Amino acid sequence: MNRREFTSLALMGLGSGVASAPALTRSLPAESSLFGRQYAPVPRQSALNASGSSTEFSTEFGEGQLNVLSDGHLQLPVSFLQPAGIEDTELQELLERYQLTGDAYTPACNISVWQQGGRTVLFDVGAGSQFMMSAGQLPEALDAAGISPESVTDIILTHAHPDHLWGLLDDFDDLLYSNATIHIHRDELDYWQAEDTLSRTPESRQSFVVGAQSRLSRAEEQVSVFASGDEVLPGIEAVDTRGHTPGHTSLAIHQGSESVLIVGDALNNVALSFEYPRLPSPADQDPEQAALTRMALLDRLASEKMRMIGFHMPTPGFGRVERRNSAYRFVAESA
Ligand SMILES: [Zn+2]
Repeated sequence: MNRREFTSLALMGLGSGVASAPALTRSLPAESSLFGRQYAPVPRQSALNASGSSTEFSTEFGEGQLNVLSDGHLQLPVSFLQPAGIEDTELQELLERYQLTGDAYTPACNISVWQQGGRTVLFDVGAGSQFMMSAGQLPEALDAAGISPESVTDIILTHAHPDHLWGLLDDFDDLLYSNATIHIHRDELDYWQAEDTLSRTPESRQSFVVGAQSRLSRAEEQVSVFASGDEVLPGIEAVDTRGHTPGHTSLAIHQGSESVLIVGDALNNVALSFEYPRLPSPADQDPEQAALTRMALLDRLASEKMRMIGFHMPTPGFGRVERRNSAYRFVAESA
């Protein structure tokens, strides 16, 4: 039984008996231990946005259609946002300007969907049901957008963190996108599958490793690896943006003379990634490399006036980059 069948059972009044399915109860300990703090689960929210649509953004782009769907949002401690021990009034003012103060940091999760020439391509698959109750809404959003999981031909992963990968499985641990080829950078796959990765990972993040290993091995027959610079699919180029993870990749969709870059988590905060790009972020696995990557990426986006979609930018995460003083700023655009 997959999630949609589960939902229809629930609608028929049979849900209460099924709600104790193992996958749902298993999600709680994993969540509470993630960052060493306890968070009350947030009830699963509707995949529909304020205007009653499941699609946050939709535009024709060249010969294809580019949509952004929401997987919900994350619920993180504010310590995830900035390094400990930094007391900088300017930085504090910036966070206040972007309303990034308070008890929790709740970044959006934007999934880009590209449809062209018979292909339906997802860029990451969201968090699934076992990471955080505030995320994992992609299946409902796809359903409302009229896209069945079986019709997805390709999934391109920016990296294998839970909020990007764990949605490969449905509530019942079955592979959700049975017909899709799952594209991942060779270095990213090698890193998560290496025997010593678990022992080298701090305890607070070991669930990331176990979760990535189990999902990537479950999906093994569907997995296809690429390298930086490869044309992963016709018109889609893999851009090296390592640092957040060892094989983190951004994907450029080229149509004629125009391009849109799906940046994943290479630029993951609307304020700090742009206005303090050199500042090491606790969100990145290799903070020094991630900062170098950010600087190069921002320079390219601003110089080439290339549009971008950021996974954790305010929904829908579509916009461009402008130079500002010695740094940059994100300028959101609507379709
Ligand atoms: Zn992320």
